[in-house]
Order: sequence, then structure tokens, then C-alpha cells
Amino acid sequence: MLNKIIPEQQIQQAMKWVDKYDNIVIVTHICPDGDAIGSSLALYHFLSELGKSVNVIVPNNFPAFLKWMPSAKDIIINEWKENEATELINAAELIFCLDFNAPKRIDRLATPVLRSSAKKIMIDHHPAPDLFCDLTISHPEISSTSELIFRFICRMGLFDYLTLPCAECIYTGMMTDTGAFTFNSNDQHIYYIIGELLEKGIDKDAIYNKVFHTYSENRMRLQGYVLYEKMKIYPEYRTALIVLTKEEEHRFQWKRGDTEGFVNMPLSIENVIFSVFIREEESLIKVSMRSQGDFPTNQFAGKVFSGGGHLNASGGEYHGALDEAVALFENALPEFKSLLTAEK
Ligand code: 5GP
Ligand code: MN
Repeated sequence: MLNKIIPEQQIQQAMKWVDKYDNIVIVTHICPDGDAIGSSLALYHFLSELGKSVNVIVPNNFPAFLKWMPSAKDIIINEWKENEATELINAAELIFCLDFNAPKRIDRLATPVLRSSAKKIMIDHHPAPDLFCDLTISHPEISSTSELIFRFICRMGLFDYLTLPCAECIYTGMMTDTGAFTFNSNDQHIYYIIGELLEKGIDKDAIYNKVFHTYSENRMRLQGYVLYEKMKIYPEYRTALIVLTKEEEHRFQWKRGDTEGFVNMPLSIENVIFSVFIREEESLIKVSMRSQGDFPTNQFAGKVFSGGGHLNASGGEYHGALDEAVALFENALPEFKSLLTAEK
């Protein structure tokens, strides 16, 4: 049996709105990952099955390894179709905000979403949500928003409307946000849910292959280059850093998604518990952080790069030169030394 996480009164409120409103928009965070796309498409399939008119809108494009997902091709990318996206948001009666906890995480979509008079429901697992929605279903203790979507559907008593495509999307999000069940994945209920998804007919091995075994040759060579040439270890801080310049991205014909997972790799080294990946984007510097154990990457990201996230996975941005971002990172290490070197 699945334990109850979402309060009954929130389920009742959400059910009323889902019942009442037909025109629904789902939005998720910038640079959408497997959980963002997985939870959004899962809810899309579920609500469509209920007969609703539903649109998924994302701020910018998402990686090729998620394009196989059922109905991924129907997702509206705001960066490419801003007028259409704005019109859909203006017309929406109900907006679901999935896998993000603050308006700035949806970039330019924040303006129409905040202005909209539609009822808004957040379903998310990032700590400390901004209270900009009418209903905030926030569970940082749950490892993926996709799992929350499963729980949400079950608790409404509408498990029969959870179709195979919906189940595939839920599984994808649960799998990607736990590194294929290698972190944040000790909760037994995860495996109960996987059992239910298998009963819906998912092929979990095929999903793993579609997500993790579809790298381009360039991506694989870039990985080799990065590990051999670009990884710096700070043994006294049990920390690793990888920095990638625009020039290097061009050299390896970088595409969105190609560097996904790079930040996790140094954590495989004995005695590295904190890994940082700094990458030059067109107009900003993007920082990704991962840790093992108790080191709070979200504190580091918040303090140094005005970012945030989870304990073990966070990110932030820097507007300025790449060298400056690296210097900021290096200068902050001493301040975190006691946390980094605390024995587990
Ligand atoms: P990633 O390293 O995969 O881009 O992001 C990991 C996690 O860090 C995301 O799930 C998100 O919670 C958080 N995150 C990434 N970038 C940012 C950012 O710029 N600001 C904030 N607040 N959180 C971020
Ligand atoms: Mn997530």
C-alpha cells in the first residue's frame, strides 16, 4: 500500500478545480530535464484522458533523449512560439506549475503566468516554495515530481485514467531524478510505484535505453575530453570542478543535453563528495552542482551563484566572465571547508 503524503484537503481542492475547468495549461522549468518533461507529459496524458483540453508549455527546448516521450512533439516551446504560448496561458482556466518552486524558474513565462487569473496549482519537490499559486503541493522529501503526479492521480481515485503513455512518462521522471535509482531512492514506496507502473505495461529496460543509451559520438568524445583534460580535483576540499568554454562546446558540436550527467561523474572518485560543472552559455554562465552525503549544494549555490535546488543537486547562474565564475567558486571553498571535510 502507498503511504499518504498529500493532505486530503489539498486533493479535494485540486479535484474540484480539475472537475470544474476544461482549459488547462501545464508549465515547467527552464532547461527542462527528465522529471520536468516526465511529470508534465504524465499529467497531460492523465488530464487528456479525462477529456480536458491540455497544453504543455516549456520556456526553452529540451534534450533529444527526451523527444521519444509520448506527445513530446506537442509541447509548446515558448522561446520559439511566444505568442501562441501567451495566448494559451491567457485562455487557461487552470494552470499546473510542475517541478519548480519560484516564478523566475520559468523565465519569460513568469509574466503571463503571474498575470493570469486562472487557478494555479504547484506540484513540486524543491525546498522553500514561493507561495504564488492558489494551491501549493510541495514535498521536498519525495525524489521526483513525477512520483508526486502518480500519488496525485491515485489519491483522486482515478487510477483507471493513468494510461500506459502516462505511466511511461512517470517512470522516466522518477528514473532521471534519481540517477536511475542510485540516489534519493531509498524510499520503499518508489518500488511499490514502479510495480504499479509495470502493471500498466511499461518496459522499464527500454525506457532506460532510450534515455541513457542514445548519445551521439560527439557527446561521448566530449565526455572523454572533459574527464581527461578538464577535471580539476581539490583534494583538501574533497571537491571536483569541470569548466567548459563556448569554444570547446563548438569544437564538439555541443547540443542541449550533451553535457547532462557530466557533473555526476567526478563523484565516482573516492573521496570526492562535491562536484561542480561550470559551462559557458550564449549569454550567461550556468553552474551545476552535485554532492554525496550531507553536503548542502543548495546552500553553496544560493550563496555563491544566487541559485538553489536540493541538498544533493543544485544550480545557479553567473552573469559575467567564465574566469570570474571560477574565481567565485574557488574563493568560496574555504568557507565551506568544515562541511566538506566533515566525516560521514
Ligand atoms: P541541473 O544541475 O540539473 O541543471 O539542476 C539541478 C537542480 O538544481 C534543478 O533540479 C534545480 O532544482 C536546481 N537549479 C538549477 N539551476 C538553478 C538556478 O539557476 N536557480 C535555482 N534556484 N535552482 C536551480
Ligand atoms: Mn525534479
